Amino acid sequence: MLKRKDYKFWFAIGSQDLYGEEALRKVAEHGRIMVDGLNKSGVLPFEVVLMPTLIDNVSIRKTFNDANADEECAGVITWMHTFSPAKSWILGLQEFRKPLLHLHTQFNMEIPYDSIDMDFMNLNQSAHGDREYGHIVSRMGIERNIIVGYWDDKNVQERIASWMRTAIGVIESSHIRVLRVGDNMRNVAVTEGDKVEAQIKFGWEIDAYNITDIAEYVQDVSKGDVDTLVEEYYSKYDIILDDWNPDEFKKHVAVQAQIELGFEKFLLEKDYHAIVTNFEMLSGLQQLPGLAIQRLMDKGYGFGGEGDWKTAAMVRLMKIMTQDIKDKKGTSFMEDYTYNLVPGKEGILQAHMLEVCPSVAKGSIGLRVSPLSMGNREDPARLVFTSKEGKGVATSLIDLGNRFRLIVNEVECLAQNTPMPNLPVASAFWRPEPNLATGAEAWILAGGAHHTAFSYDLTVQQMVDWGAYMGIEVIVIDKDTNIRNLKNELRWNSIAYR
Ligand code: MN
Repeated sequence: MLKRKDYKFWFAIGSQDLYGEEALRKVAEHGRIMVDGLNKSGVLPFEVVLMPTLIDNVSIRKTFNDANADEECAGVITWMHTFSPAKSWILGLQEFRKPLLHLHTQFNMEIPYDSIDMDFMNLNQSAHGDREYGHIVSRMGIERNIIVGYWDDKNVQERIASWMRTAIGVIESSHIRVLRVGDNMRNVAVTEGDKVEAQIKFGWEIDAYNITDIAEYVQDVSKGDVDTLVEEYYSKYDIILDDWNPDEFKKHVAVQAQIELGFEKFLLEKDYHAIVTNFEMLSGLQQLPGLAIQRLMDKGYGFGGEGDWKTAAMVRLMKIMTQDIKDKKGTSFMEDYTYNLVPGKEGILQAHMLEVCPSVAKGSIGLRVSPLSMGNREDPARLVFTSKEGKGVATSLIDLGNRFRLIVNEVECLAQNTPMPNLPVASAFWRPEPNLATGAEAWILAGGAHHTAFSYDLTVQQMVDWGAYMGIEVIVIDKDTNIRNLKNELRWNSIAYR
């Protein structure tokens, strides 16, 4: 499994010295109780670290710059306990480069009606202190999230947890390195894009190698290692022989084991976290990597078919954002394949030639060897399964020539109750929001690809926020989508993002 750093989030409380030492002592004490409570809630996926109370330009500027320099800090949570004159925040905010959360909360949940006096009023001022602070963040045009509510409320904590995962996506995006073995599929438009601009916007490094370079690693894998991995496959997956001779079947499976081990070694040695292949460019490989890529995706690597490096990076990104989720349901590369247009049962069958990540599988996973109708290699081994039910997000990052646009569609994965005995690939079946007709029309109008990066474990809001931090256009297709409004939004965005 690909690992990432053990991130922390800093909690920076704003105040000032106008109310004396005693007030500042109380502010710090409240901060300790709140941070302790947040960490003990069990809701937050990452630790919150309390910083010394910020009261002036010097301390604020230093804290934000320390946060920039600290490799483990993935973002700063700010809150104004008292009034904190916002000019003191300008320089620090200007220099800050990590995700910013404004937690608009207060120490007490209820107004203490019996005891409230002016001392209490002067100490517990976030209702107006946070407005002064929010004003300067808005005036400076800095991207941030605002969460309003009582800090010890589970719903508020869940929103903080969700923002933390978005922040990890922002921080980790600039560490993603995509390995391209072969170029994009010939004549395909939507998988293309400006790799220089992708590095400027998202921090992605996207490098090409000859497929023969990685094929050498595959050839060098020892037979012993291949046999061990094949044994693991046979113990983990249901072997579906179809009409194959068992020995011949096993030989085909062993080819994928060898590819998995060779590819993984290459990826690890050269520190790549996502990979693309292209069935047209397979020199030195016996089979199109199928099972091998499915296994690598399950280990946390991003993948895009036919050279689709944008989707490969997005799959990797979404796997990092969801890495710490307990009982997560899965994240995968997907492709819109074919429709069911029966009234009341509308939806899109999702699959690919081979490469769907087993993390999304529902129930047992089968191992099959079948012909591939494209390309000129031998019949590849692949994992077959159907996918879990429930909500998810399908995303497509496209290059419009002068900018990137991220399209995010909320989808509902439905039960796949009717067997498809002749379909030799893994699949999912989903209904896009708000319904198939409007969802698909909106997707096509927005220019979305046939390839998507899909996850059950992320929300539309998280992807929207990630796109906002990246400074790119994001189009949402969900239950509120209406075609006339969407057309206007696209028209207006073409000016806003020019
Ligand atoms: Mn494809």
